[in-house]
Amino acid sequence: MRRFPDWLRRQLPVSSSQKTWHILGKYGLNTVCESALCPNRSECYSQKTATFMILGDRCTRRCGFCAVETGLGEVVEADEPERLARAAEELGLRYVVVTSVARDDLVDEGAEHFYRCVTAIKDRIEGVEVEVLTPDFHAREELIRRICEANPTVYNHNIETVERLQRLARPQAKYDRSLKVLSLVKQLFPHILTKSGLMLGLGETEDEVISAACDLREVGCEILTLGQYLSPSEEHLKVKEFIPPEVFRRLADTLRQMGFREVYAGPYIRSSYHAAETLDAAREEMTLEKVNEG
Ligand code: SF4
Repeated sequence: MRRFPDWLRRQLPVSSSQKTWHILGKYGLNTVCESALCPNRSECYSQKTATFMILGDRCTRRCGFCAVETGLGEVVEADEPERLARAAEELGLRYVVVTSVARDDLVDEGAEHFYRCVTAIKDRIEGVEVEVLTPDFHAREELIRRICEANPTVYNHNIETVERLQRLARPQAKYDRSLKVLSLVKQLFPHILTKSGLMLGLGETEDEVISAACDLREVGCEILTLGQYLSPSEEHLKVKEFIPPEVFRRLADTLRQMGFREVYAGPYIRSSYHAAETLDAAREEMTLEKVNEG
């Protein structure tokens, strides 16, 4: 594995994350934080946030960058929505991010269960907002519509990397299909904010990143995250380059001018990192826009 540059070495927060661990364990829930070996776990858990991963902890796809286990899909647990809602309540969450493994083995690819999970959280916690971070559902309109019917505040679907590197990074997905997912959300439910993200450091050029951002803007994507790809193991895709913080800053400035409500970029940014604050920043931008129009 490549040696980390200085800007990727940082002190972990001292505060406790025990309570979050305890609650996740008590309700038997999976998080993408654990399954994908996210480097921000310590910080997020200490702030009592986590990204819940539903529909099991084994993914039916095999992406070259992802640490989530792959294999046959597990039995869908009918009580998972309730356990999830209780855990979110106990953690005191006002903003909940829910993601899932890809379930290509299920007739509805897990859409109904996703809907039930979001609805259970909203039924239990008054005023809560939910962000969904979904697989592509093969861009099937009826499945994306079902998720949106649960009325999440943000619909997040990552394109993960630039067009040229799609096959390398996620052979069972397609760039255009992912764009179509975001486009469908905007067409069907224009009030739901759409969000996407890319990992940098897989060998893409800055121009390719800008071109991907253009494609995202064309389908109405409003929030974008950019983070450094870190290889989870020797078996996964190698890091081609560590992108310095100033390049992330430069890219964010350029991309903001393309009309995104918010571009959150930096070495440690992940799709769900500081998700509530990212939404706040996007809303501020929308308010400013309205003031300027007025
Ligand atoms: S950044 Fe997201 S995936 Fe990583 S620990 Fe925080 S909530 Fe979990």
